[in-house]
Amino acid sequence: MTTSPPEPATLEELDVEAMRAKYAAERDRRIRPDGATQYRRAAGSFGYYAKDPYTPRVEREPLTDSVEVLVVGGGFGGLLTGARLRQAGVENVRMMDEAGDFGGTWYWNRYPGIHCDIQSYVYLPLLEEVGSVPEWRYAPGEEIRRHAVAIARTFDLYRDAVFHTRVTALDWDETTAEWVVRTGRGDRMRARFVITSSGTLSEPKLPGIPGIETFRGHTFHTSRWDYGYTGGDQFGRLTGLADKKVAVVGTGATGVQVIPFVARDAEHLFVFQRTPSSVDVRDNRPTDPEWAASLRPGWQRERMDNFLAVVSGEPVEEDLTQDGWTSTAQLQRKVISGAVDTSVSDEERERTDELVDLAKMNEIRARVDEVVTDPATAELLKPWYRYMCKRPTFSDVYLPTFNRPNVTLVDTADFGGITRMTETGVVVGDVEHEVDCVIFATGFEVGVSGVLSGTMPVRGKGGQMLLESWARGPRTLHGFYSHGFPNLFHLGAVQNANSVNFVHVLQEQAEHIATVIAEGRAAGARYVEPTESAQADWARTIQETAHDHSAFQAECTPGYYNREGAGVGGSFSYGPGPVAFHRLLREWRAKDIGDVLVVDE
Ligand code: NDP
Repeated sequence: MTTSPPEPATLEELDVEAMRAKYAAERDRRIRPDGATQYRRAAGSFGYYAKDPYTPRVEREPLTDSVEVLVVGGGFGGLLTGARLRQAGVENVRMMDEAGDFGGTWYWNRYPGIHCDIQSYVYLPLLEEVGSVPEWRYAPGEEIRRHAVAIARTFDLYRDAVFHTRVTALDWDETTAEWVVRTGRGDRMRARFVITSSGTLSEPKLPGIPGIETFRGHTFHTSRWDYGYTGGDQFGRLTGLADKKVAVVGTGATGVQVIPFVARDAEHLFVFQRTPSSVDVRDNRPTDPEWAASLRPGWQRERMDNFLAVVSGEPVEEDLTQDGWTSTAQLQRKVISGAVDTSVSDEERERTDELVDLAKMNEIRARVDEVVTDPATAELLKPWYRYMCKRPTFSDVYLPTFNRPNVTLVDTADFGGITRMTETGVVVGDVEHEVDCVIFATGFEVGVSGVLSGTMPVRGKGGQMLLESWARGPRTLHGFYSHGFPNLFHLGAVQNANSVNFVHVLQEQAEHIATVIAEGRAAGARYVEPTESAQADWARTIQETAHDHSAFQAECTPGYYNREGAGVGGSFSYGPGPVAFHRLLREWRAKDIGDVLVVDE
């Protein structure tokens, strides 16, 4: 049994037409002609926004050695791959990351209030292998970061690891069947296998606010929290803000988590909002020790599989998680592939979905009225769009923050965001708000793995460039590897299946890649590479099965889900969703794995 979505039957009287018109009007006033180009990279003269504030960089000699496997990325994708490789008996593994330690997202994001929105028992990977049960139902960031470190220790992944290192080029050497790896630290090392897992939302971005560079106060991005300035830590008081007027720009999933803590400790907080988030119930609580003691081996796999099945629209007997994600699984189909009810027509399904969506959003808007005492402020905090247009958020402390006397909500929707910045403050329309500090909770560049952005140029067999080979769209088998680029694997969200529990998806990818590598070694293969025809078949499968989300996205308020209102350029996901995709991978491993093992040329 799953947690019930709101009952559409009670919604028949709702004025769907009026609601559609309201959503469209709210969307239109936020559309900017410069779309996704409104943002600035935290690079060049803005590079200080991306510097590592947590770990000092240690000088070292350039590397010129050879390893069997290089894993680029020390977040959960890389860690899971490293762990599975070790379990498969591969000893010579080097982990590499631009950060100063393991953890990926959870290394960089250490802002006060940081938590994971996915239940910790299904989000934190390898809990049973590491021998721990999370302390909280929704884990704080520091607990997750420590868990990442624990995985690295458990699987001995610090051995030979290199940090603060960015790969700048990968070149296939035909004669030795190895990758020549160049880095920003002057390394010129070799690796037989290279696995990239460099994240999809990892480069911080800034709004292109006129005059941003003229601001003379203190400023930083949430993913590089400056505790030296604010004082405190993820759990302690931000004593440095006690006499400061602070601006937080952005009210996405990060803003919602951080704003209550800045509000608690700053003299005054100005929240600059362009689009309000949907803020649903959090209901976090410590893990019940009796429950933890009752868990039997295999418990985590069971819960992870159950959660993935529920949010992917698969039938289950019982919903073991019962939270804001599992109760809105039906709504997630609008942007994430998965199983849909084919016993009804598309029109009928869309009608029901729209009513369920409306009920959910009405519930979210009613919560604002219940909590926020000033009616004008409450009105500004109500989201007017369909549930999955923006990343849903969950908090029991965000909305009450706006009842505090030291918090001012500044709505910027009519101005397309902040108008400009001056030496001393933030201007919206023609009103200047003087502040000592501006904190940007403005998110990350999307899909910018070095492979896709070209900052990690890959030259495969015959000098062929990967990006050129992918010029008309990615060409892979199962999203993992490409013909002409032997022994090179990618983890991520290209040509496979996604889920709100992305770590589960990464775990399946890691298991698959580790198995292919282990089988390749066992078979004495010269290298591993898909055939062109297998790759073409897979592209066809994706094309034939991918759900078309473009109509939904076109009506959504702008955001990174729909390229700031420009729409999506077609879905690249396996339509039946992650549960079916993982089944497909298991079947492929059982009968077709030999197809990618090139024993001799
Ligand atoms: P988002 O991109 O979601 O939010 C950026 C915010 O900045 C938006 O509110 C945006 O407004 C605002 N903004 C951008 N430009 C301007 C401007 N010129 N003036 C005023 N406001 C502006 O970034 P987040 O860091 O919040 O979240 C990114 C992703 O990280 C999430 O979607 C989620 O996937 C992940 N995350 C996950 C968490 C978890 O618990 N698992 C926690 C936190 C983040 P607008 O909406 O109008 O564009």
